[in-house]
Amino acid sequence: MYKAFLIKYAEIGVKGNNKRVFEDALVNEVKRALKKITGEFKVIRHEGRIYAQCLSEYDYDEVVTALKRVFGIAWICPVVQIEDNGFDDLANQVINYLDKAYKNKNLTFKVNARRTRKNYPMNSMEINMELGGRILDAFPEMKVDVHKPEVLLQVEIRGDVINIYSIEVPGPGGMPIGTAGKAMLLLSGGIDSPVAGYMVAKRGVQIEATYFHAPPYTSERAKQKVIDLAKIVSKYSGPITLNVVNFTDIQMAIYEKCPHDELTIIMRRYMMKIAEDLGKMSGCQGLVTGESIGQVASQTMASLYCTNEVCTMPVFRPVIGFDKQEIIDISEKIGSYETSIQPFEDCCTIFVAKHPVTKPNLNVIKQHETNLDGVIEELYKTAIETTEKIVIE
Ligand code: ATP
Ligand code: MG
Repeated sequence: MYKAFLIKYAEIGVKGNNKRVFEDALVNEVKRALKKITGEFKVIRHEGRIYAQCLSEYDYDEVVTALKRVFGIAWICPVVQIEDNGFDDLANQVINYLDKAYKNKNLTFKVNARRTRKNYPMNSMEINMELGGRILDAFPEMKVDVHKPEVLLQVEIRGDVINIYSIEVPGPGGMPIGTAGKAMLLLSGGIDSPVAGYMVAKRGVQIEATYFHAPPYTSERAKQKVIDLAKIVSKYSGPITLNVVNFTDIQMAIYEKCPHDELTIIMRRYMMKIAEDLGKMSGCQGLVTGESIGQVASQTMASLYCTNEVCTMPVFRPVIGFDKQEIIDISEKIGSYETSIQPFEDCCTIFVAKHPVTKPNLNVIKQHETNLDGVIEELYKTAIETTEKIVIE
């Protein structure tokens, strides 16, 4: 019944010329999303609006599901588009539309007509009144409710097309990917970091990811789990290059030479540093982690202070103020939760001390890190050089 979807967008970041950049990016993202599903679609901008036109048979739910993942979309409106063949024809088409769209007519409604073309022979109020009357004649069960209608029938009289729609499916909001630069996500196999990646991508940021793998202490299954999580995030963010860093030797060196209660902090400092170096090589302008204040010993303010200190890039922690349950709620919504809770060890758990410091002192940490001098440089270089890059589409 619908041959097009009207796509209403959310906020536009920076006004002015960037509006065009934003719209182009959104058109590209909509195209990318629809390419993955069955059917032939054409995505166009027309008179300041974005439409996905359906050129072949398609599955309605599949299209809506795909569009609900495109950041930048505020509303997805299946629309009937007609030409202007006079008011009688419009009224008939509207009645036809309502008849098909709503099996049960026991509904309240309101007509909301708008004209961008002001030379239409009736004004918006007249169209509302007249169409309302015709609808009541056609479907006596329907009733007008101007305050809280169950069906808000939109009739938009535009340049050379009239849009008729009443269904508005909420999109994810945010900004189209590609409008806000690129960031490096530290992606572990947990619940938090995929959510963090999703949240930054939602603001239009392209995501690259780094995973620290420590074979044989962490299994291939753990790595596969991270790949699976990256795949889930990429359904929203578009392709992700996943850097898999072999972290075993660095971790062992820290384990042998540094106090065990400081292991996690020192390891995390090296993770941040390596992720930043990899990020710099591929044009990232920030790091993203799934840290949340106080969740574990390595996420107290004192610990975050120590890990953050090695970074020169801004570090974004979108879930910093969230409780675990709030993060879980988002992970369920985006579909990563089930994968995140699979029981494969990620690299930290094996090297966790029984009583990790919760108030690390930066000077003490730095002092202990000097134990690594002469060994770490080569290991660091090798870790970067042997990083495996997996492109996840
Ligand atoms: P998550 O649920 O995201 O794994 P977590 O609660 O397990 O987080 P930590 O293990 O302290 O917390 O990790 C904090 C953050 O550090 C993670 O959200 C992630 O961004 C990063 N991180 C931790 N371990 C790794 C790893 N092996 N590879 C890449 N990033 C990691
Ligand atoms: Mg973790």
